Amino acid sequence: MIQLGIKVDVDTLKGYTEGVPRLLDLFGKYGKRVSVFFSFGPDNSGKAIRRVFRKGFLSKMMRTKAPSTYGFKTLLYGTLLPAPMIVPSAPDIFKRAVDEGHDCGVHSWDHVFVQDKLYKLTKEQFEEQYDRAAELFDKLSGKFPRSYAAPGWQVSKASLSVIDERGLKYASDSRGTSPFLPVVDGEEFRTLQIPTTLPTMDEIIGLPFVDDNTMIEMWVRGMSNEWNVLTIHAEMEGMSKLNVLEKLLQSCESEEVDIIALDDIAAAAKAKRCEVKSGEIPGRAGTLAVQADGLVAL
Ligand SMILES: [Zn+2]
Repeated sequence: MIQLGIKVDVDTLKGYTEGVPRLLDLFGKYGKRVSVFFSFGPDNSGKAIRRVFRKGFLSKMMRTKAPSTYGFKTLLYGTLLPAPMIVPSAPDIFKRAVDEGHDCGVHSWDHVFVQDKLYKLTKEQFEEQYDRAAELFDKLSGKFPRSYAAPGWQVSKASLSVIDERGLKYASDSRGTSPFLPVVDGEEFRTLQIPTTLPTMDEIIGLPFVDDNTMIEMWVRGMSNEWNVLTIHAEMEGMSKLNVLEKLLQSCESEEVDIIALDDIAAAAKAKRCEVKSGEIPGRAGTLAVQADGLVAL
């Protein structure tokens, strides 16, 4: 049977307070357990505008209709408006996801800061970012996180070594084809990577021939592995595209694709060592962490 691991990234206050409850309702309705990675600290989404000089950023903003997807206020947080705190603004939403048995993990403390600056953060600076999120996770749920998913699929030797030291069950920081133990410039790390294998909605939305229906077909036909991972965003699939996600869940049911959480994949994974490189993904601006033995073709 084909399996699909669903990974939910929560990046913004709006995605957290409005998208996550709807996603939890939907997964509850279909009886599905998934992985949810939270940004805990400040929503500095407005600062992402610095990426405007990056190739492909503006066209992505237009394709994904960013202002209506994220909300106008969100695009000003951290610049013209102060950055609001995400999980502390409504801790019960996070607690609900934990109580409902989902595989919850850390996405970030400050998403925009880590995504944009990771390449120059020292190990101590990354540690501070990770630990602030992990401590709030523990304070609210009574347990430390067992998984991490890097903002914007960015890794560094510093981030990988902190994740190793925290003894996590797995991390999902990269794009690729199969679970692996990462090697960067010859340095080996021991935390299992469960890469995202399918293109995300914001990478394919608005492309020629891609609409809400063909997108689902692309995903279902793109599941070439025994198991696959799709990253969805609370801001998109949890809000204006919730109907597309529901149709995907229905398609998976009729195609006998089993929806699972990433910790289920980690538990069964036989990992090999694999190099992580900086690469590009169609539809995404800038570079990200890519498993060296290639990507699933779109
Ligand atoms: Zn994110």
